Amino acid sequence: MDKLTLQANSVYTRHLQDMVRFPTVSTENDGATDWEPFDGFRSFLEKAYPLLHRNMQRVMIGHGSLLFHWKAEHARKKPVLFMAHQDVVPAGEERKWIYPPFSGQLAEGCVWGRGSVDCKAMLLFLMEAAEELFREGFRPCFDFYIALGHNEEVFAAKDIKGSALTAAYLQERGVELGCLFDEGGKVAGGAAVSLGEKTATDIVLYADGTGGHAARPGKGTVLGLIGKAIAAVEDNPMPYRLLPLVKAQLQASAASYAGEKQKIFSDPEAYWPQVCASAKEDSQLDALLHTTFAVTMAKGSERSNVVPSHAEAVVNVRLLPGDTTEQVLLHLKKILPAGVNIRFSHNTPVFAPVTPFDTVEFRLLKTAIHEVYGTDTQIVPSLLTGATDSRYYGGVCSNIFRFSGRYHTPAFGDIHRENEKIPENVLPAGVAFFKTFLKKYQD
Ligand SMILES: [Zn+2]
Repeated sequence: MDKLTLQANSVYTRHLQDMVRFPTVSTENDGATDWEPFDGFRSFLEKAYPLLHRNMQRVMIGHGSLLFHWKAEHARKKPVLFMAHQDVVPAGEERKWIYPPFSGQLAEGCVWGRGSVDCKAMLLFLMEAAEELFREGFRPCFDFYIALGHNEEVFAAKDIKGSALTAAYLQERGVELGCLFDEGGKVAGGAAVSLGEKTATDIVLYADGTGGHAARPGKGTVLGLIGKAIAAVEDNPMPYRLLPLVKAQLQASAASYAGEKQKIFSDPEAYWPQVCASAKEDSQLDALLHTTFAVTMAKGSERSNVVPSHAEAVVNVRLLPGDTTEQVLLHLKKILPAGVNIRFSHNTPVFAPVTPFDTVEFRLLKTAIHEVYGTDTQIVPSLLTGATDSRYYGGVCSNIFRFSGRYHTPAFGDIHRENEKIPENVLPAGVAFFKTFLKKYQD
């Protein structure tokens, strides 16, 4: 097949509408979460996917994450795990929605609502694929898992984070996955498959002084000093370097650009000075080439006439794979003015390994994409600048594919914003992709 035909399937459409109707909004510490929609969602899954529930054992992990497990009788291959999350972000401003955010309205060829894209579409693909395969009599010759998190959208501590607990659960049982799929890339022109992701952490720059009355500031305040520190951080970025993964990404995407960019991306090493110059004007490219610093919060005194005795600024750091927090500290110590101290915020960063791209699993993935989306679909291995829940799985899996199986068209409505929506005619290809991959893995 060379051209993909987009055609809706009424069962998938109806199931996605039903899923969106459960307002499964997560909260940071689980405590404030309304569990009723999650309970309803779980019962809905039982009804909609009976064969899956008959064939796979279900365990509840943490407060609401689900792990389904098909146990192969005589496993011939390493296990496969598919991930998606049940939770969604809040609706935002209700009055800005054309259709109510949790109505699951089908209109203009789209299913509308919070979670329709992120991440219930992928969740639907995984569940439909498994259900249909079981119906067709498919018996995987490998252990097969589906993990559905309950708090992906929030910064939850590791001891309540569904994905972290699920990965730990598998690790305790000695499971070593052959590969796993999580959200991330999609098919839009080419098929972006994220094989690595940057690691987020926060650094606090702070300074202490005596404080006092604003009428007698002397040589300046500690907030002024923090201001100089912020300027130093912005003026002295970490140096650019080219990861093999980013090189592959630029080369694979070169064809989609015209002129100068097409030339320099097709051989980024030969045109390295030009790539660096181009990155200075392009925040997307810039983020792929180095560890970035974004100063996002600052505070000084609570009153305009009081000189603060303590001032601080928070720098959101996104580490390039391979860079360490020690390197970042060393860099900052060199550039910060005297009197400014550094500390890491409470969260310890979780580093995801970069998936190798010369593996059997990656080749199978490429074949499955070509089979479903057409042989002319360009595969673009890529580095994700955001973070996914799959980062917790480094201990049980070295082949992490961040690829949702989703075909993108201009009819989509943005995730995390009002009027999130997905065209119903892209759903069948998503299901077909995961079915195809599982069958190929079996062979
Ligand atoms: Zn998501």
